[in-house]
Amino acid sequence: MDLQDKVIVITGGGRGLGRAMALELASKGAKLALADLNQQDLDETIGLCAELGSEARGYIANVSVEADVEKLFDDVVSDFGTLHGLVNNAGITRDGLFIKVKDGKVAAKMTMDQWNLVMDVNLTGTFLCGREAACKMIELGTSGCIVNISSVSRSGNMGQTNYTATKAGVQAMAVTWAKELSRYGIRAASIAPGYIGTEMVMSMKPEALEKIAAGIPAKRLGKPEEIASTVTFILENDYVNGRCFEIDGGLRI
Ligand code: NAD
Repeated sequence: MDLQDKVIVITGGGRGLGRAMALELASKGAKLALADLNQQDLDETIGLCAELGSEARGYIANVSVEADVEKLFDDVVSDFGTLHGLVNNAGITRDGLFIKVKDGKVAAKMTMDQWNLVMDVNLTGTFLCGREAACKMIELGTSGCIVNISSVSRSGNMGQTNYTATKAGVQAMAVTWAKELSRYGIRAASIAPGYIGTEMVMSMKPEALEKIAAGIPAKRLGKPEEIASTVTFILENDYVNGRCFEIDGGLRI
């Protein structure tokens, strides 16, 4: 798909990887609908897109709330008149070990709150936005593409029982959607980033970050632009479907 004037929704588009994706797609001439929780972040991203000559609009929406997501996509179609793509990027972590063993006593460590919050945003949010985007694109008769942001953690990671389950889930959902939606001209794919230098990762202790970088064949964290350019590649290349792109500096080889 030629991205010029195409309307793409990016969830979590206010900052981090979502902002980098917005700027990359803006530079390709796309029109952007950015959904997030924080108006100030949205306004900053919209301003940066405007400097690149792109029309971008912000929408306050919690991706885990069905009514918010329905309103988001109704508003986007009403504002832009069409829809061609979605990047399911909004995501959170609430890390913690699964169980703890202290002084011979075993106890549950990851709480139901930690579990439910991450499920709600990462998994339910992706499900709701994907479902709504697909309905709109089919109603509108536009062919389009959905990109789910997974993670290198999808194959399992210490302290991330909740997060890893969601990131394996969003990758599998993209495969399912590729199989179900191809007949309507809608493609789906996913990206599994390694450690990328956004707030989510930079909030870790510096010693931990150094150790992580040392274990990556590329010997550094990834840059948000390196994920954003992969989103562009998937959206632009009509022969990509269902696959997961691992952009991790070789972490998993
Ligand atoms: P970030 O925390 O910087 O940005 C996430 C954005 O999502 C924020 O703007 C936040 O407000 C928004 N958001 C959170 N909950 C939301 C909700 N309920 N509804 C709407 N918006 C919500 O994180 P990031 O590093 O930019 O990560 C973006 C995505 O990439 C996430 O899905 C994350 O799991 C994934 N990822 C990141 C890395 C990394 O190294 N940064 C690695 C692998 C995967």
